[in-house]
Amino acid sequence: MMNELNVLSLESEAGFKALFKYATIGILVINGEGIIELSNPCAEKLFGYTKQELAGQPVEILIPANFRKNHVHHREGYFHEPKARPMGYGLNLFARRKVGTEFPVEISLGHYQLDNKQLAVAFITDITERKRTSEELEAKVKERTLELTQSLEREKELNELKSRFVAMASHEFRTPLSAILSSLSLSESYIRTEQEDKRKRHIERIKSSVKNLTGILDEFLSLEKVEQGKVELEKEHFDLFVFANDLMEEVDGMLKQGQQICFSYNGQRDILQDKHILRNIFLNVLSNSIKYSQEHQTVHFDIDNSDQFVVIKVRDEGIGIPEEEQKNLFNKFYRAKNAINIQGTGLGLAIVKQYIELLGGKISFFSKANEGTTFTINIPLNQYV
Ligand code: ADP
Repeated sequence: MMNELNVLSLESEAGFKALFKYATIGILVINGEGIIELSNPCAEKLFGYTKQELAGQPVEILIPANFRKNHVHHREGYFHEPKARPMGYGLNLFARRKVGTEFPVEISLGHYQLDNKQLAVAFITDITERKRTSEELEAKVKERTLELTQSLEREKELNELKSRFVAMASHEFRTPLSAILSSLSLSESYIRTEQEDKRKRHIERIKSSVKNLTGILDEFLSLEKVEQGKVELEKEHFDLFVFANDLMEEVDGMLKQGQQICFSYNGQRDILQDKHILRNIFLNVLSNSIKYSQEHQTVHFDIDNSDQFVVIKVRDEGIGIPEEEQKNLFNKFYRAKNAINIQGTGLGLAIVKQYIELLGGKISFFSKANEGTTFTINIPLNQYV
């Protein structure tokens, strides 16, 4: 029946020949000495040789130079103990074309005996395309994993930010609000004329609490504005020495018993810079040094103004910043554990950093818990900008 239909039979030599000739996989027959005895058209096309060029050649001509020596060794091993198996399992195998280019391959080996001669058959597939697709896929997976990790990281940061905000708000809003409430109800009860003084004191307390709350809101707004790039620099000429003295007067009211600011100024006094931004930076760092120092401790405030930049150093002998917390110091709402009982929002330094970057400057600090902190700010000055 089969013969009638003229179908090739595998039992016939013609059947085998057709299989060999039309196989879409490269086939090479190699003898025990590693000499190519037979090749199929697909293998010839793959390597760019003719049948005649391949026959009688050592199989190593099809292997990139740096793998040849090893291959001879493996080949000899194979003929010692031949069995059907994939070649170089788990390795990236490469083959070499006649023109010298290399390409990735997958090879599986078989063997047989003919007239007492050991022969190995190598089935070779060019996997360039497959490898490229899988590399593209791998790159895509890597990219997606990175995106996912980054968005998880962002979500984690946002969550941390939220909890820091809640911790800050519950303390910093509640304290002035309850002060306002209690002062209001007490004021209500002081109705007699002779209680005028007490009433006034409570009204002052209310005013100062409201000022406090407004201050916090102002900090929020400043940060929001600078983060959104909405702050425009407005440079003007002014006397930095006078400016610094005015600021010291401003923070004078914050000084605790026996605290003092030791001020030194070096260099030119006239500068061209954004006064409002500088004021914010100086005030934040100075008031922190006072706030986080004890009574009778000194704050050192040094300004060194060369023509190109101004270096401001604010050094205190206060509570310091625990080493493990230092990396978070410029994060929004971040407050070190040793500062929890001291009033603050954790926004000041975040704003300072943004402002300094806006001026093209740098801020760094050195601190040791219980010994003190030094903030160093470096701001470039370009008189002609
Ligand atoms: P705030 O002072 O309102 O908490 P800041 O952003 O100005 O916020 O400072 C963030 C944190 O950095 C503070 O809560 C405090 O833990 C720490 N810190 C800043 N300056 C000092 C300083 N001079 N000494 C000790 N700790 C400081």
